[in-house]
Amino acid sequence: LTSSNVLEKNDAYLIGVDVGGTNLRVGVIQQCNVVWAERIHADFSAFCRTHAGEAALDSILDTLARAIREAQTRYPAVCAAGIGFPGFIDPMTRRIIQSPNLPGLTDVDLLTPLSKTLNLPVGIENDALAAAFGEYVVSGQEHRESLIYLGLGTGVGGGLILEGRPYPGTHGVAMEVGHIIIESDGRPCGCGNRGCMEQYASASGVALTYAELAGGWQGMDSSLVAALARKGDTHASRAFERAGEALAQGLATILKVVDVSRVVIGGGMSQSWDLMHAAFRDRLEADLIPALRGRIHIDVSRSADQAGMIGAAMLAAPRA
Ligand code: ADP
Ligand code: MG
Ligand code: ZN
Repeated sequence: LTSSNVLEKNDAYLIGVDVGGTNLRVGVIQQCNVVWAERIHADFSAFCRTHAGEAALDSILDTLARAIREAQTRYPAVCAAGIGFPGFIDPMTRRIIQSPNLPGLTDVDLLTPLSKTLNLPVGIENDALAAAFGEYVVSGQEHRESLIYLGLGTGVGGGLILEGRPYPGTHGVAMEVGHIIIESDGRPCGCGNRGCMEQYASASGVALTYAELAGGWQGMDSSLVAALARKGDTHASRAFERAGEALAQGLATILKVVDVSRVVIGGGMSQSWDLMHAAFRDRLEADLIPALRGRIHIDVSRSADQAGMIGAAMLAAPRA
């Protein structure tokens, strides 16, 4: 599947759902245009921490079914739905193997119950891989270019488009870059390890760093930390600098394994890129292989959070 054959052959209405630990976005996509979209503040991550796996799964299925049904009602001609989901997706069975930010969801099948309830073909792909494909398609790449997407939301997701093709990996865990360990014996992570990049560079990571520096303030949202930073709060500014450094540490490592020249940064936290950028750039330049310094093109997503939905529709929705 490449962007050009997607654009040529498909003018059907497809539903794209971008599931996150905090937000759920649902849209109706035609070609790569969003004809209708809605954002739901679902807080699945918090819900999964306070409810047993079974109850959390039921709630997620219910919210997904209602969101997709809403899109079906508005666009009865939709012929399939694709879900971008924050977790490791088994490439063969399409089950969710694990979802570090949705604890309790281990080895679950969303597709069978959803397609049955909705009477619609439903597919699933990793959220960041979907967003990477969305960014690739939206930017109208004609050639088989390579691109890395880094999504800074509840966690940090990564997606790789390798010479025009989305690369999920043999076990569905390629580009799980949020779990690159950047701090030995660092903060515990939902994946089961410690010191993962997303514990510092995600929205939750920024909130944790701020809580550590300022004392107390557990559970503060990163957009509030951003507002404080803009008012001159040094702890808040430092929390964003730490996020920038952590992201750069991770990216320098990724670029030593996968050599691409284009990186797109998205997710809710990318709206505060200005607070992270200087620390990110300095650290990236220091950590990169010298031959690559100054040669990596970093863009902040301009898709206004739509890339995840677009990519989910185009990559995950089953086609007749
Ligand atoms: P997810 O996909 O995991 O649901 P999103 O990419 O939607 O996450 O990002 C949501 C997170 O981004 C929230 O935790 C929110 O606090 C944070 N966020 C939103 N806007 C900003 C901002 N301007 N600055 C920093 N963080 C922000
Ligand atoms: Mg997301
Ligand atoms: Zn981890």
